[in-house]
Amino acid sequence: GVLMASDQENDSVSIPVPKPSEIHAFFDNYIIGQAYAKKIISVAVYNHYKRLLALSHSSDVEIQKSNVLLVGPTGTGKTLFAQSLAKLLGVPFAIADATTLTESGYVGEDVETVLFRLYQMADESIELAEKGIIYIDEIDKITRKSENASITRDVSGEGVQQALLKMLEGTVVNIPARGGRKHPGQAFFTMNTANILFIVGGAFHGLESIIQSRLNQQSIGFKTGNLVGDSVPEYAVFDHVQQEDLLKFGIIPELIGRLPVIAPLQHLDEAAFVQILTQPKNAIIKQYAALLGMDGITLNVENDALMAIAKIAKKRKVGARALRTIVEALLLDTMFTAPDNSVQSVTITQADVMTYLDNNTAPDFQAMVHKELS
Ligand code: ADP
Repeated sequence: GVLMASDQENDSVSIPVPKPSEIHAFFDNYIIGQAYAKKIISVAVYNHYKRLLALSHSSDVEIQKSNVLLVGPTGTGKTLFAQSLAKLLGVPFAIADATTLTESGYVGEDVETVLFRLYQMADESIELAEKGIIYIDEIDKITRKSENASITRDVSGEGVQQALLKMLEGTVVNIPARGGRKHPGQAFFTMNTANILFIVGGAFHGLESIIQSRLNQQSIGFKTGNLVGDSVPEYAVFDHVQQEDLLKFGIIPELIGRLPVIAPLQHLDEAAFVQILTQPKNAIIKQYAALLGMDGITLNVENDALMAIAKIAKKRKVGARALRTIVEALLLDTMFTAPDNSVQSVTITQADVMTYLDNNTAPDFQAMVHKELS
């Protein structure tokens, strides 16, 4: 049974909807680890399409929208999930940062600007934009900030959550025809958000201890004398997140209600970092190899060097994000010098990585070539 999502007016424009297992397999091309999140998101997306299908066939059961909340440390693949998904589905995709959003009328970006960006990504087709995906990052930074006395009006907190609410559940929004902020006398167009899939994400610093203490209390309640919370390894605490934890964290209940699917992402370990460097379709090492390849140079990275890079990256505590920065720095002199030279290959060794770590400067190009020749 191939599920087909079809256009209401024109049934001949049917698009095959990938099955959850196929969505998962696609993710595997780009995303290392995060098996649990992959499964949850695959099912959520499949259901999203089933919902559209049910709508176009005026079925009796009204299936509610399942926007997705990604909870996990920085640099573990939240944005990557949203990006990969848009790539797979071939729908327009826009990213927004919740911290830059404000309620209409305040200084900052109106929530509607996100929709305008999606419209632009859809080559100004409202029809396409209305089936797109929006990723809203740093949702954890717009919690209630009642403790902050200097904020007379709650510009960045609860007000923004309220503004997001409507958009997430599905509403018709007036969007200034030329983007930017709303002002009187301006031309508008309308956009319906009912079928836009919203993925929101955040690192939720501090949420782990909220989850831990709930787990501990539960285990005390069961009088097992065995603390469940303590037996959950640190990297997997987010796997146990529940809506009540988010409430405690400061997300308003209505918003939590609009985010029924919660996908936890785990901390990535050094082994995962090594895989991220080399395995995904657009892996970092593959990208630099392609860049140097344009100068006729083959890039070799020894296994020890990969592990050393992973170790340094792990210490920086920004997730996989650190990997690119380190590789870029390691290859700085090579990329600067190589076009002026005729060498066939360069090799990054563990010693190069250690040199970089000790001096915080890139090992020079000649050193890397020399090792290759000897
Ligand atoms: P965040 O969770 O903060 O949104 P991103 O998805 O933006 O993190 O990831 C930051 C960088 O690290 C990107 O270059 C991304 O490709 C890489 N990365 C992060 N997590 C993974 C992962 N699980 N698999 C492959 N690459 C990853």
